[in-house]
Amino acid sequence: MGADWLLVFGAGLVGLCFGSFLNVCILRLPHDQSLLKPPSTCPQCKRRIEWRDNIPVLSWLLLKGKCRHCGKRISRQYPIIEALVGLVWASAVLWLGPTLHALAAAVLGTILLGIAITDARHYLIPDEFTWGGLVLGLLLSLGGGVPGFLQAVLGAGAGLALLSAVAVIGRWVFKEEAMGGGDIKMMAMVGSFVGWKGVLLTIFAGALLGTLIFVPLSFKKKKLVPFGVFLAVGAAVTFLFRDTVIDWYLRFIRGS
Ligand SMILES: [Zn+2]
Repeated sequence: MGADWLLVFGAGLVGLCFGSFLNVCILRLPHDQSLLKPPSTCPQCKRRIEWRDNIPVLSWLLLKGKCRHCGKRISRQYPIIEALVGLVWASAVLWLGPTLHALAAAVLGTILLGIAITDARHYLIPDEFTWGGLVLGLLLSLGGGVPGFLQAVLGAGAGLALLSAVAVIGRWVFKEEAMGGGDIKMMAMVGSFVGWKGVLLTIFAGALLGTLIFVPLSFKKKKLVPFGVFLAVGAAVTFLFRDTVIDWYLRFIRGS
């Protein structure tokens, strides 16, 4: 593939920083708190975290996972998310080179991770991830990224329309809210990155995963379905394998 390792490494570092920012988003957006103010503090002793203790992954390792002032544990979630996002950005450039397509892959991967975590934890998907992601998806497609602006608009429209329909039918059948507004906005965002065919594939993959994993669990204890988690996995699979899967499917229905 001949990827420039310096570029891959650089992308990884950028990803680590976005991972650090994603931690702030995951912590604050579900509670409608500002991302900028106040600056990061230790949740235990409320002391401000200095820049040297705020370096992605590294600071956590150097501090052995403890606050410099009060010595209380700092959750492992922080370095794990930072490392994951760093990995997403590095792999995107390794896989697609220094292209707009790679940037789209990295941005989408970061947002999907944020959505999956907030939905699993709080059963909500912040607008900053969905509407913000939609704007980024449309901008990237305008810049000549994949799938192209018209496809991105069609994809966003398809995501919005299809999940709204599912929500209406769900409310009618189950007499309760089966699909949240966050899922609908999320699919508009996903559509802008994968186009309308990708939307179909994402919903199919998400529903399949949700049924396989969640239905057996929910029979035991009646629980809310964090459908955004399954849609996020479906969207990632779609972004990676869309063309291959659609190709298989078309060959399958043509019987060749
Ligand atoms: Zn502390």
